[in-house]
Amino acid sequence: MSEYVSNLMAEVKAKHPAQPEFHQAVEEVAESLSIVLDRHPEYRTSKVLERIIEPERVIIFRVPWVDDQGDVNVNIGFRIEMNSAIGPYKGGLRFHPSVNLGILKFLAFEQVFKNSLTTLPMGGGKGGSDFDPKGKSDLKIMRFCQAFMSELFRHIGPNTDVPAGDIGVGGREIGYLFGTYKKLRNEFTGVLTGKGLNWGGSLIRPEATGYGAVYFAAEMLGTRNETLEGKTCLVSGSGNVAQFTTEKINELGGKVVTLSDSNGYIYDEEGIDADKLKYVMDLKNVRRGRVKEYTDEYKNAVYTELDPNMDHNPLWNHKADCAFPSATQNEINDVDAQNLVKNGVYVISEGANMPTTIEGINVFQADKNVLYGPGKAANAGGVAVSGLEMTQNSMRIPWSRKEVDDKLKNIMNSIHKTCIDTAERFGHPGDYVVGANIGGFLKVADAMMDQGVV
Ligand code: NDP
Repeated sequence: MSEYVSNLMAEVKAKHPAQPEFHQAVEEVAESLSIVLDRHPEYRTSKVLERIIEPERVIIFRVPWVDDQGDVNVNIGFRIEMNSAIGPYKGGLRFHPSVNLGILKFLAFEQVFKNSLTTLPMGGGKGGSDFDPKGKSDLKIMRFCQAFMSELFRHIGPNTDVPAGDIGVGGREIGYLFGTYKKLRNEFTGVLTGKGLNWGGSLIRPEATGYGAVYFAAEMLGTRNETLEGKTCLVSGSGNVAQFTTEKINELGGKVVTLSDSNGYIYDEEGIDADKLKYVMDLKNVRRGRVKEYTDEYKNAVYTELDPNMDHNPLWNHKADCAFPSATQNEINDVDAQNLVKNGVYVISEGANMPTTIEGINVFQADKNVLYGPGKAANAGGVAVSGLEMTQNSMRIPWSRKEVDDKLKNIMNSIHKTCIDTAERFGHPGDYVVGANIGGFLKVADAMMDQGVV
C-alpha cells in the first residue's frame, strides 16, 4: 500500500469506525487512484477524493409498523445521498437483516463510480432497512413499505434522488413504495425505477443487471476472440441478478451448473436450461421457496448446505470456465479465488456488488490469464436501464424491448471500452479494476472541480 493510501485509510478508519465494508471499498478505489492523483495534483489540492468519500447527506430514520397480528415492530431506515456532482442521487434500496450504515455506505460509494461509467447523468446513493422480508406475508411487506416510504418521501424526488431495488426489494416492494409516494405527494413521477410496465416501468429493467454482466463477460472474452458458446459457468445467488444472468448465458450458448441462496447451493452437471430456469423463477419469485427444493424436481442435481465454519465456499470449487458471483458482498475470499483459478475459471464477471475480498482480487490479478470484471463495471447494466427508465418517464414515451436491449448492449460495450482505454492510458493495460475506478472517478472529479467546493 502506498504512503498516500495508508494515510488516507488511517483517516477514514478513525472518522468512520466499525464500517469494514466501507473501508474495503474505499481502499480498493484509493489504490487505483494514486496514479491519477500523482498526474493531477489539482485533484489532491482540491481534496476531491476526500470529498467523494464523505456522503453529501445521510438520512437515518425510525420505521415503526404494525403487522397483521397487531404487533408493533420497529426497524431502521437509511438513505445515503453520496454524490450529486453529475446528476440526481441514484441507487437501490436493500431490505435485509444484515443492513447497517457501513454496508450502505460501501454500496453508495461504489454506486458513484458505477453510475459515472454508464455515461448517463446519475449521481450515487443507496438506502434500505434491516427489515427481513423472507417468509413474510404480502400484507406485512406492504405495511412495512408504506411505513418506510412515509418518511423517505420527504427526501427523494425525480430530480433529487431516485431509488430502485436491490437485495430484498423487487417489483412487489417497488409497487408498494411507489403507491405510498404517489399518495403522499399527490403526483405521478418517475421517483423510483424498477416500476411495473403498466405504470412507468421500462422493458428489460428486471433483466438488465444479469444481462449486462453477461454482455460484459462476452466483451472480455471478445478481447481474445472467444465467445460464451460452450462455456461452463458458475453462478451464485438465485434472485434477480442470478436468474437473468442464467437466462442470457443460456441464450449465448453457455451452460450454468450452479445456483445458491443463503442456505446452500445446487450443482446440476447437465446444466440449468430454460425449462429448469422457469422452475427456479417460479420457486423464487412466486412460491418464494428455497433453492434446495430444486433437487426435489431434478433428481440428478446435488444440494450442498452452506457450512459457515468452512474457510471456503464449495460452490466455487467446480471445474468451469466462467464465474458470475450474483448473491452478495465478500462471497469469494482468497481460498475461493484460488479454487476458481485451479479449476480452470478464467472469466469472472461480478453481478453482485463487491463479491470478492481484496485478497481474492489479488489472486485473480496475479494470474495474467484471468479476465476479472469488477462489479462497478460488470453490473452497471441495472442502473443503466434505470437511467433509461428515467429518460422514458421524462419523455412520457416507452421504448420497445429491442430499443432498450440495444441501448444496454451499447452501454456495456462503452463501459468495457472505457475500462480498457483508461487502464492503458494509466499504464496498466488489461487491468479492469484500474480502468473502472479511474474511468468512473474522472468524470465525477472534473464535475466537482467545475462546481467549486460545495
Ligand atoms: P435478490 O434479493 O433478488 O437475490 C439475492 C440472492 O442472493 C438470493 O438468492 C439470496 O438468498 C442471496 N443472498 C443474499 N444475501 C446472501 C448472503 N448473505 N449469503 C448468501 N446468499 C445471499 O437480490 P439481487 O439479485 O437484486 O442482488 C444480488 C446482488 O446483485 C447484490 O449484491 C446486489 O447489490 C447486486 N446488484 C443488484 C442489482 C439489481 O438491479 N437488482 C444491480 C447491481 C447490483 P436468500 O434468498 O437466501 O436471501
